[in-house]
Amino acid sequence: MFTLEQINAMMGQQCLFACKECGRSYKRKSSLYNHMRWECGKEPQFKCSYCPYKGKQKIHFIMHVMAKHKEHKAEVLNTAYK
Ligand SMILES: [Zn+2]
Ligand SMILES: [Zn+2]
Repeated sequence: MFTLEQINAMMGQQCLFACKECGRSYKRKSSLYNHMRWECGKEPQFKCSYCPYKGKQKIHFIMHVMAKHKEHKAEVLNTAYK
């Protein structure tokens, strides 16, 4: 048996991976996986110490720090990757 995802891929259609919980869809399976792992039904768990920013994904949080608080990058990376 093929999964719907495999069939979509074979048909060359725009391949959408939908979350079973909330219905959000992603073009890439890894994006859906990240969504389910970190976002779906979850409160943001990465809170910036330097501003009110809250992120649901570590990578978003790190990108935020890199962009907005370059001077704190080193210490944030140290704690984020403990
Ligand atoms: Zn979801
Ligand atoms: Zn911040």
